Amino acid sequence: MRYRGREVGGEGRVQLIMESTLTARDRVGVQDFVLLENYTSEAAFIENLRRRFKENLIYTYIGSVLVSVNPYKHLEIYSKAHMERYRGVSFYEISPHIYAVSDNTYRALRTERKDQCILISGESGAGKTEASKKILQYYSTTCPISDNMSTLRDRLLQSTPVLEAFGNAKTLKNDNSSRFGKYMDVKFDFRGALIGGHILNYLLEKTRVVHQNHGERNFHIFYQLLEGAEPDLLTKLCLERNALKYQYLVKGCCSRVSSINDKNDWKTVRKALEITGFHEEEVEDLLNVIASVLHLGNLQFGEGEDGETEITTEPQHNYLSKLLGVDGADLKDALTHKKLTAKGEEMISPLNFEQAVAARDALAKAVYGRTFTWLVAKINQSLAFKDDMHNSSKGSSSVIGLLDIYGFEVFQHNSFEQFCINYCNEKLQQLFIELTLKSEQEDYESEGISWEPVKYFDNKIICDLVEEKHKGFISILDEECVRPGQPSDISFLEKLEDTLGGHAHFVTHKLSSGKTRKAVGREEFRLLHYAGEVNYTVSGFLDKNNDLLYRNLKEVICQSDSQILRQCFQREEVTDQKRPETAATQFKNSLAKLMDILMSKEPSYVRCIKPNDAKQPGRFDEALVRHQVKYLGLMENLRVRRAGFAYRRHYQAFLQRYKSLCPSTWPNWQGPLADGVATLVQHLGYTPEEYKLGRTKIFIRYPKTLFTTEDALEAR
Ligand code: ADP
Ligand code: MG
Repeated sequence: MRYRGREVGGEGRVQLIMESTLTARDRVGVQDFVLLENYTSEAAFIENLRRRFKENLIYTYIGSVLVSVNPYKHLEIYSKAHMERYRGVSFYEISPHIYAVSDNTYRALRTERKDQCILISGESGAGKTEASKKILQYYSTTCPISDNMSTLRDRLLQSTPVLEAFGNAKTLKNDNSSRFGKYMDVKFDFRGALIGGHILNYLLEKTRVVHQNHGERNFHIFYQLLEGAEPDLLTKLCLERNALKYQYLVKGCCSRVSSINDKNDWKTVRKALEITGFHEEEVEDLLNVIASVLHLGNLQFGEGEDGETEITTEPQHNYLSKLLGVDGADLKDALTHKKLTAKGEEMISPLNFEQAVAARDALAKAVYGRTFTWLVAKINQSLAFKDDMHNSSKGSSSVIGLLDIYGFEVFQHNSFEQFCINYCNEKLQQLFIELTLKSEQEDYESEGISWEPVKYFDNKIICDLVEEKHKGFISILDEECVRPGQPSDISFLEKLEDTLGGHAHFVTHKLSSGKTRKAVGREEFRLLHYAGEVNYTVSGFLDKNNDLLYRNLKEVICQSDSQILRQCFQREEVTDQKRPETAATQFKNSLAKLMDILMSKEPSYVRCIKPNDAKQPGRFDEALVRHQVKYLGLMENLRVRRAGFAYRRHYQAFLQRYKSLCPSTWPNWQGPLADGVATLVQHLGYTPEEYKLGRTKIFIRYPKTLFTTEDALEAR
């Protein structure tokens, strides 16, 4: 039968909500929007969400999709006892929960032997990361573990605090905002035992290392180190216990956050590093790198006697060469000069003040960004399946992928980073359309089933605008980055206007004449995303896309004593003459790969909603919620569910299962399969309203019909 959007055998028998297991409180509103009487009304939808939210019922289904509203407070629904309640229990038997989705996905993996994935979406602060942590906790706690992987449980759980320390930061939207995308495969062997994990990370927001907007912080680890480290360690790292002393930490004017205890978090992270298998020397190396980034920020430049740029902060420079493990004079040279190759000859040219500052910041970003990638690789080693003894089970292993990637983001000022993040969300929406809205409707069409099509906005037009070859946004950006002459952010903006001028989803100041409501500044462009309009400031796009680090700086870091830096900066890169891929193209390619990975799996969805912008419990801002319901496509989602048929099966499979219920089809039906199915359902008394016969499948409208048939089978 078609169960949670997929075909399963007899084991996955569905039951409608068993009233006995639900308390009166659980029944506030409807727990599945499909049961909503007035299912086309957005107001009724939101009212149902609100009523449940007020009773702390943050989870509601749309069929198999879980809608979750961030409670912004601790709820007693995540205990081990709760996990036990959801184990092996059918989806509809107890109240909606993230554990029900986790468990159901696990069981689908076991019974169908097909890789699964859980896609978690929603805007920044809506609760995606918390949801993914709950799922991981569920698997780590309830699933058996392969014998030779006894430490895996802890390693899986402890990978999170490590990655969050280095990859999360306080933003205006979320005090613990993920500034990187994360896709994690949780791996199981053929018996369903946990055997490992693997993480893919996407585009860390590196600019945060050198700059933060007002009210935001740098990555957590810097503050944790300064607050939590023992005095000896700080001395060794030449640091003071005062975040205000570090230029890279003061840009946002908020080094302390009331909801964050950096000192305690430091302890948690140190312990987590240990558990995830980092050696003492590696941790030492890692902290040297982190400290050196802080010292880089305090490195200042001035003008020497002959007008040349020189470093004016000698102590910082000394700390740096010590912590980076590089030669002091070489480092000094590399921070104030650049090496060029012209006509096969190397030339050294001095940097002016601005260039030196930019080179310094580029180094800080590169060092931090690559160290983060190194960190992920280390964690992957520690989660890797050690298959030396169990070679045989590797072939039949399967995975559940968890996607927790940055949500749609709009700030006062939006730059290259928001552009990438929002582009990523367009891609995820495409995937949702492909896998749910479109595929469901196409199925009806190809089967020749008549039904009322549901209209939805297909955002492919925006994805194309961004990624089309030659004339898409990224192509134009890349072209401008390599153009000889003096390309600038402004010349890029002009190119955009020339090429994308007529596009319905692209607007600039020049093009705007009454086309949109809010003004677009002269150095801005606006994209009309599926989730709303966003103005982007063009300044910085070229630099961030080029993501250039001068070759002589790379050369110096290559020779570092630090194991981490030597792994992150390899010699070949310096000698390689090829131009590296731009940041946007790299991101585009990694997203394309991610889409392939996700397309090959059976998806489940968690759609997260943020109830208010103040991060407060109990507040349900209707306008804000309505906006999210709109762009998450939840109403379309519901209409597709309701307009469609709950279950569908190939004729062959349907006949095979139920042929014993009808004398004409038992023991074997000799004629065409479609006729056999028609004979069978007529005998069973299906009314024309209840089912339709397609080219290869039978479609059944209500779950109830199928339950009755299943009951008949059981009663035999
Ligand atoms: P996102 O990853 O979508 O940006 P997070 O998952 O980091 O958002 O959630 C933001 C904050 O909201 C969390 O730090 C936590 O305080 C709160 N929160 C989210 N989900 C829950 C939940 N299920 N229970 C309690 N608090 C939550
Ligand atoms: Mg997050």
